Amino acid sequence: METHVALLPSAGMGHLMPSLRFAAMLASHNCKVTILTAQPTVSAAESNHLNSFFSAHPHIQRLDFHVIPLRSSNDDPFFLQFEAIVLSVHLLPPLLTSLSPPVSALFLDTAAAACVDHLADETSLSISYYILNTTSARFFSLISHLPHLTLEGSCKNLQLPSLPSFSVSNIPPPLFNPENLFTTRLISNLRAVSKVKGVVSNTFHRFEPETIEALNSGRTMITLPQFLPIGPFKYYESVCENTSLPKWLVEQPAKSVVYVSFGSRTAMSKDQIKELGEGMLKSKQRFLWVLKSVKVDRVEETGLEELLGSSLLERIKGKTHGMVVREWVKQEEILSHPAIGGFFSHCGWNSVMEAAQRGVPMLAWALHGDQRFNAEVVEKAGLGLWPKHWGWLGERLVKSEEIEEKITQLMEDHKLRSMAQKVGEEATEAWEIGGTSEKVLGQIIETLKLKV
Ligand code: UDP
Repeated sequence: METHVALLPSAGMGHLMPSLRFAAMLASHNCKVTILTAQPTVSAAESNHLNSFFSAHPHIQRLDFHVIPLRSSNDDPFFLQFEAIVLSVHLLPPLLTSLSPPVSALFLDTAAAACVDHLADETSLSISYYILNTTSARFFSLISHLPHLTLEGSCKNLQLPSLPSFSVSNIPPPLFNPENLFTTRLISNLRAVSKVKGVVSNTFHRFEPETIEALNSGRTMITLPQFLPIGPFKYYESVCENTSLPKWLVEQPAKSVVYVSFGSRTAMSKDQIKELGEGMLKSKQRFLWVLKSVKVDRVEETGLEELLGSSLLERIKGKTHGMVVREWVKQEEILSHPAIGGFFSHCGWNSVMEAAQRGVPMLAWALHGDQRFNAEVVEKAGLGLWPKHWGWLGERLVKSEEIEEKITQLMEDHKLRSMAQKVGEEATEAWEIGGTSEKVLGQIIETLKLKV
């Protein structure tokens, strides 16, 4: 019988993209794949991507999962959707049992992992559960221990058995507050770790060797399922859509442009946006800047002039070496273009892996969540620079001179460029025949096929 697996992504592009990429990888290994798509999506980017993905992959099945919406005007809408998915779990068993041939495995995003509790109690379902981890192995190694830890902000370092130590200042502040709703939800999702068969992850052995080895050593404080690094996840978009690169970019000299983007859902203050723009102009480097001022794309209303001010906007327009875009871009296509010489990024994990895959040097500005942990990985692997003292988003105003200095370093430091290139080569090796990620994916597929 055909091997049939299902995936349950969570909300936001940073969660959807890895699920779609992993789904395409499984399908290319002759698995039948169904994606449970939580509806309605939070952002237009998610619904647009789902539509183009399914039209390019007609062999992958879409099954809409109509979640019961939660209403609150104060909370992050993506976080509310994480919650809504978990609270709608009772609607999943009928969907899963309706699938033919029967599904043998379900891969759940970490933010939906608490669903395993309910699903595992449904005796009619004979399914193996896996987590699809959307962050670094490094951050996962911390959060997987959260249900068993009390974090103390007063210490400098946190040392857990067999893992490389953590700098407490890099831990996202909400995690120190056990009453915080985000923290309690994260903990309940991570309790499911002990019930899953494996944790599939978009990373590769050479990128995070110590953490990956420690996670699989059997000597961690808690018993963990197998950690399965199969990154960098492959790019599927090229199969489905035509190029959309800005004409300006393709005309620039090789490795001359800094790509500036802080992910799909980071909104900066107007003051910070202005400092950023001034800093880039002062650096005199060419730049392609994807500028967002709100978390959810459906409500982007503020015009460029209002955000940047007319003087800065005029100066950017007057130079031929800068370009600002507001709309969704195909980031991977941009990072693959020879004109790109550096990536100024918030260090969302997908962005990190997309840069690592191509050996593009990064300037990390870790803003919230897991990003300081991800930036540590970037720095340690030699993929980029991380000015730690810039702090969390909004902690201080990072001045244009500081930005100018680091952008110049990003684009002119030859040693950084060659170290980043080496990371790109190691990423490629991970996917060669017998490479670390290729082997682990092979093991996953074999296990899935054995179960049928
Ligand atoms: N992305 C994109 N175009 C955009 C903004 C983002 O293609 O205009 C993609 C990016 O390539 C990545 C994902 O959206 O795959 C964002 O995930 P990441 O983990 O980097 O950051 P998040 O948006 O979750 O903070």
